[in-house]
Amino acid sequence: MISVGEALRIVVETARPLGFERVALLDACGRVAAEDMTSSRAVPAADNSAMDGFAVRAEDVAEPGARLRIVGSIPAGSVRGESLARGTAVKIFTGSVVPPGADTVVRIEDAETAGEHVTVTIAHPRGANVRLAGEDIAVGATVVHAGHEIGPADVGVLASLGRAAIAVHRQPRIAILSTGAELVEIDEAPGPGQVVNSNAYALAAAVREAGLPSPLILPLVRDRFEDIRARLEEAAEADVVLSTGGVSVGEYDFVKEALDAIGVERLFWKVAQKPGKPLTFGHRGPRLFFGLPGNPVSALVCFSVYVWPALRRLAGHARLHLPSERAVLGAPVRRKPGLTEFLRVHLARGERLPVATPFRSQSSGVLTGLAGGAGLLVAPADRGALEAGGEFDVLRPGPFAAAASGSVLLGATVASHGETC
Ligand code: AMP
Ligand code: MG
Repeated sequence: MISVGEALRIVVETARPLGFERVALLDACGRVAAEDMTSSRAVPAADNSAMDGFAVRAEDVAEPGARLRIVGSIPAGSVRGESLARGTAVKIFTGSVVPPGADTVVRIEDAETAGEHVTVTIAHPRGANVRLAGEDIAVGATVVHAGHEIGPADVGVLASLGRAAIAVHRQPRIAILSTGAELVEIDEAPGPGQVVNSNAYALAAAVREAGLPSPLILPLVRDRFEDIRARLEEAAEADVVLSTGGVSVGEYDFVKEALDAIGVERLFWKVAQKPGKPLTFGHRGPRLFFGLPGNPVSALVCFSVYVWPALRRLAGHARLHLPSERAVLGAPVRRKPGLTEFLRVHLARGERLPVATPFRSQSSGVLTGLAGGAGLLVAPADRGALEAGGEFDVLRPGPFAAAASGSVLLGATVASHGETC
């Protein structure tokens, strides 16, 4: 049995970034840039006004009270070719190109207009209220670096450069295979001994929350070696196969043998952790196979701890792991050393650090302990009983973390919106 750290290292090293594809700019948010993207244009293209007001010559407005003659107007989108003479001003609007001769803009608030003349009430330094050509992006500047995760502002920058399609890392295609003779589909009423296949839904939701396309959900498969083998072979079209169930040591647990039979090289089976001990992982060439345990909590915790970083790496991301924070344990936990334990905890505001209170049941079948933005408190393998007040790391799984109930922007009103961090 290997440690959590060792298992995670193997997973991350085995997952290699997928190749590249071109996507429409609108589909690029959240994707990882395949190449450095440089600008063929200056943005803005020309010196333009940052304000509504008057374009003037700096030497005319060096002292307060200058009186200038208004000689025209430049609405946004139009250009004035004629050079601005001394002692004159031209009406200008935000974004309009500053005419030749002018180098300064007077805000409308600092001007008093009377007929054809304007009096500038305060002195202006040269260049005031002018956005210079190339101030945002110079020609040849790198606007997006290879490996960067593209966000809305990058999309805006690329749009301003006229890049309607860009090269990004391909995203993994994922297949989900649920094994278990007791399973029924969501629209069937479970009979005695039967359970609804919830894992496929939870995992598919986690995949989508990770920003990936909907996975392929394969039909249920019974605990029969030959059926599992055939279905796994079919699933192997995908970049990543997530199976659930059938990886323990029971008489009907055939997933490991079926993976062997289709030529998957097993890199580990069993991790010193709770929940999720029977997790198995292997690869066939670049394709990854996770044999997740069937217990719903185990399947989702293994997704967060191992599958999520693997998917991030395949999609080209550099930041792979779940965010974590330090928290104070709010109640003692009885346990023996030996396994790393991912305790499902609620987080509440504390004095110095958040307070993590273990969910009432830590059973790997009790999925509600993970719902509602729970964190996973990491009880280190070498620690026995945990005392209240101790400090621990708490993972905040992206795929099922809730948004914060309050905002720092709301100041004092935060507390009244709830106590969850
Ligand atoms: P297994 O890993 O096959 O031994 O299954 C462990 C437990 O998880 C059993 O109680 C199963 O009924 C349950 N289980 C397995 N697969 C699923 C699934 N797809 N959805 C919900 N529960 C499941
Ligand atoms: Mg089973």
